Amino acid sequence: KKTIAVITSGGDAPGMNACIRAIVLTANRFGHQVIGFKHGYNGLIENEKVLLSPFDVQHTIQLGGTILKSARCLAFTTDKGLIAAVENLNKNEVDALVVIGGDGSLRGLDRLQKHWDGQVIGVPGTIDNDLNGTDNTIGYQTAIDTALDSIDKLRDTADAFERIFLVEVMGRHAGFIALASAVASGAEQALFPESIDDPHTELESIVQHVECLRQVKGKSSIIMVIAEHLWPGGVSDLAETLTNQIGIECRPCILGHIQRGGAPVAYDRILATKLGSYAVEIINEGQSGVMVGEINNRQCAHKLNYVYSEQKELDPYLVKIQQNLFDVVQCLNLSK
Ligand code: ADP
Repeated sequence: KKTIAVITSGGDAPGMNACIRAIVLTANRFGHQVIGFKHGYNGLIENEKVLLSPFDVQHTIQLGGTILKSARCLAFTTDKGLIAAVENLNKNEVDALVVIGGDGSLRGLDRLQKHWDGQVIGVPGTIDNDLNGTDNTIGYQTAIDTALDSIDKLRDTADAFERIFLVEVMGRHAGFIALASAVASGAEQALFPESIDDPHTELESIVQHVECLRQVKGKSSIIMVIAEHLWPGGVSDLAETLTNQIGIECRPCILGHIQRGGAPVAYDRILATKLGSYAVEIINEGQSGVMVGEINNRQCAHKLNYVYSEQKELDPYLVKIQQNLFDVVQCLNLSK
């Protein structure tokens, strides 16, 4: 019988509760005890803990956010903070720590495992989908649907007023949300880190693209989906620049934290349930230093430093068709 600690850390993602629930229910089946530490790594440092029984997680599978709260924790990146966390894990006689979070949280966990003897298991919980070792991260599918819902609404008003909308979505280092929500919404352009080397050299082609779409393809409204932090000065700055260059009103819209909220879609609830259960199963096997994931519908576990070290590849076919559907070169040929 073991004591398993669990935290949710970093950017919250829909489905984190479903994962906590699966961990608690599975652990209970094996007779393990589960302690939740609150506010991410802060809870480990401050010893802010709650015992989690199956009763505590009932009816949480459908809840967005996280019942354990999440937070960023600067103190955990210092030696002093790390030592305090290790001391509290030992004081509470924790055998295994499960961290549900994104790449930063898993980097932190990798550092922790070098200073603590217990088992450490990561679970991919981030809307960004930017972790290797799993096809999807918990929260990603919900975030795409949320972004899509908003973009569909923007299309209605963009069409009515024959406007150009620049929609900023989350994903500062990776274009997963931008690409998927752009394809699903039929957006005429998607700009994300993997598709752009230098934004400044891109401006001319963006202007050309917009003009082609309007004049040659007769588009009455145009939606451009842009990953956050991609454009220096932000989407508002780009909207103003484009308005001045094209002479048609371009409106910015930042979707922001709306993308993190809401009830998880079925896919995320199921993925979270599988990965939470699997995390406990591999704790039983004595594994440590890995993140659980799912690739081609098969559960797997990869070393922590593998999951965050390399940039995860976008679906190359999806990138290609998003570009081809509104290809400027083809557009120019049509105009001849
Ligand atoms: P996410 O997990 O969503 O990527 P962050 O990048 O903010 O979110 O990371 C969450 C927390 O993980 C940070 O506040 C910090 O406590 C910890 N962390 C992130 N990177 C490291 C690191 N390189 N070393 C130690 N801890 C880290």
